[in-house]
Amino acid sequence: MTFNALWLTDPKENKTPAKIEQVDETTVLQLPITLRVLYSSLNYKDALALRAKAPVIRQFPLIPGIDMIGEVVASESSEWPIGKLAVVTGWGIGEQYHGGLAEKFSAKVEWLTSLPEEISPINAALIGTAGLTAMLAVLQLEQQGITPEKGPIAVSGASGGVGSFSTWILAKLGYQVTAISGDPYAEEYLLETLGASSILPRSELSASGKMLQAERWAGAIDCVGNHTLANLLAATQRNGCVVACGMAQGLELSTSVAPFILRSIRLVGIDSVYCEVARRNAAWQRFATLLSHSPLPIPYQSIALNQAIAFADRLLEGNICGRIIVKTT
Ligand code: NDP
Repeated sequence: MTFNALWLTDPKENKTPAKIEQVDETTVLQLPITLRVLYSSLNYKDALALRAKAPVIRQFPLIPGIDMIGEVVASESSEWPIGKLAVVTGWGIGEQYHGGLAEKFSAKVEWLTSLPEEISPINAALIGTAGLTAMLAVLQLEQQGITPEKGPIAVSGASGGVGSFSTWILAKLGYQVTAISGDPYAEEYLLETLGASSILPRSELSASGKMLQAERWAGAIDCVGNHTLANLLAATQRNGCVVACGMAQGLELSTSVAPFILRSIRLVGIDSVYCEVARRNAAWQRFATLLSHSPLPIPYQSIALNQAIAFADRLLEGNICGRIIVKTT
């Protein structure tokens, strides 16, 4: 028995390392649960892997795809009967283990999250790693006592995947959001579609700044790192909290202890890949609550598995607005 999958081989040994292959079930489906993949999504990390632009893949050959939603078709666990829907993000899938860009997926039980009934399979795919990361960041702000009354929240990389979800979730929860964006065409999207209260050009925070600045925000969700993160720390009000999610501007962080020891600022990191199960479940439940009141406004394009390589190129060129959902069967 075989199924269709995107199949990556070592780019050092192969001129066309990414292509669609009929793969043998017996060699790939070796974990206790088998899912028929309904949707996967194409993330920046997947595009890097497909085009061998960064060392995302830890062993070849491998099926890429860092998130997926599917239906159980074979199971060794009574908790996961045939027909149940599951979502999987992170845990090293599409990096170390075979991922979701295929018709079938092989999973460990501990990777599977039940899909709340308020979340449709397509919305689960749309949320994927980006939405989960944003929700984990919002939960952190709440846990740190940053409620809407404390003041506005800054979101950097606001028109990207994590930034869009962060902006939308915060606005829905009643926060005032300052969307920090370098996209000159995103004004209507950020203000009207996602509900941001104001926009700040990315350039205002992207260069090195003073170690302490006027206090502007009660908290921040940062998707870009580097000088932007340093400036957010410097401009967060006393007892505020900054949540670091990403590094679109860069991995480096040059700051001082001033925000921490003079304003009690907290800096919290998010790792959605190995995030513990209870926190993941809480994040998906919050999405269920939000989606029972409002539709997801994030734009997306739905593509077939055989279009993923071309769309990976467009994603890397920055030519994509919104999320890319891959309909695998
Ligand atoms: P996207 O590419 O969708 O969004 C990133 C956004 O950052 C862009 O849309 C842009 O927004 C902004 N940006 C891009 N380049 C720069 C730059 N040079 N300087 C400042 N801002 C820039 O990526 P995602 O939203 O999917 O991911 C965002 C970050 O989060 C990435 O670094 C990713 O690796 C990381 N990530 C981390 C996870 C975790 O578990 N911690 C999980 C998922 C992603 P705009 O045009 O609006 O300025």
